[in-house]
Amino acid sequence: MAKEFVAEPDLQFTRDVIAAGGSDVKKCYQCATCSVACPISPDNSPYPRKEMIWAQWGLKDRLVNDPDIWLCHHCNDCSTQCPRGANPGDLMKAVRKMVIEENSWPSFLGGLVGQPSLMVLTLGIPVAVVLFLVYINGGFRAPQPLNYGEFINYLYIQGVYTFALVFAVVSMVLSLKKYWANLEANCPINVGAVRKPFVPSLIEAFKEILPHDKFKECEANNIRYASHLMVFWGMIGLFVTTAIVAFNIDILHIAPPSRGGPGTVPIKILGNVSAIAFVLGLGIMIVRRITQPDQAGNSSYFDWLFLFVIFGTGATGLLTELVRWAGSAPGAYFLYAVHLMFVLALLLYLPFSKFAHIGYRTLAIAWGKSAGRDVTLPVVPNYAPVPAQEGGAEETPQA
Ligand code: SF4
Ligand code: SF4
Repeated sequence: MAKEFVAEPDLQFTRDVIAAGGSDVKKCYQCATCSVACPISPDNSPYPRKEMIWAQWGLKDRLVNDPDIWLCHHCNDCSTQCPRGANPGDLMKAVRKMVIEENSWPSFLGGLVGQPSLMVLTLGIPVAVVLFLVYINGGFRAPQPLNYGEFINYLYIQGVYTFALVFAVVSMVLSLKKYWANLEANCPINVGAVRKPFVPSLIEAFKEILPHDKFKECEANNIRYASHLMVFWGMIGLFVTTAIVAFNIDILHIAPPSRGGPGTVPIKILGNVSAIAFVLGLGIMIVRRITQPDQAGNSSYFDWLFLFVIFGTGATGLLTELVRWAGSAPGAYFLYAVHLMFVLALLLYLPFSKFAHIGYRTLAIAWGKSAGRDVTLPVVPNYAPVPAQEGGAEETPQA
């Protein structure tokens, strides 16, 4: 006999899910078309139908500890086929935001980044820090020849940005540790008792994530795969560029690319190509969100804040370089200061914004690999073909 289940709904959670972007969740009448339409949903407890009813019932504990939320890539194949317009893809996205809030360390920052009413505070912190750095360096000046180190002393930059990076890494690690413990203790999906070890599962997850293998399988929204790939690799290229420049300045004492230090041409090429890929991919994402909301899905404040910060980071980085080439020192210094604000926002809010998807998704996919969660069998008809009659054509029965 099936085990008795007593639902303990958290109706505030349902309201929060709706506010976070799952506004059509109540339209769902559980036909399961979405789970069939999803090209990457596993055969055991497929998603997103079950998540729809858990959200309607306010079953917070199930949803926030459900790794399937992160196996979804928001391609919206399911939403385009939902006969009720319940947009299950958007529900999955909304719950991902709530998982980040639930596991964030420190928790108040998880709440700050997701709240539209706190936008001025969220963006005001990095702006105030950079303006303070400009102020203690003598205010806005345009030293000639162009030297960003004279505009704002590199030691101050190193101090602030190293702190922000360490803070982001520590917060991310603690948040993910909590999330992993929650998956182990409270995952609502029945998985086999035999588990693969963590490290091989993580390696398998990376092998899937780096080429975006699962993204490719989504059909209705294939452009999302290309744009996401550009942003992903562009971001990695920019990170590597920044790390090399910092290493050159701090350890090898080589002049930065802006001052034409030796061996900096390849670094500039890597940085510029990465920035172009990053900005182009982001541009496609933003335009699609505006012009094709039916395919790209509804966009929430949480989505737009993230897009604004990462687009601002890439665009101001590129513009700083272009204006420097054009010979406008005041323009280059101004854009450099704005670029620093965006970079600081990116670092400080990395574990609490949509950026944190990198960590949560990787961990959930690794958990899925460890539990054998990603088994998708090819769809086969449930009848045997009728052999061709002698002298007649083969008959194909109808399902
Ligand atoms: S979300 Fe749509 S497709 Fe999925 S079960 Fe509900 S009504 Fe059916
Ligand atoms: S949005 Fe795409 S990946 Fe996510 S559940 Fe729907 S069909 Fe599957």
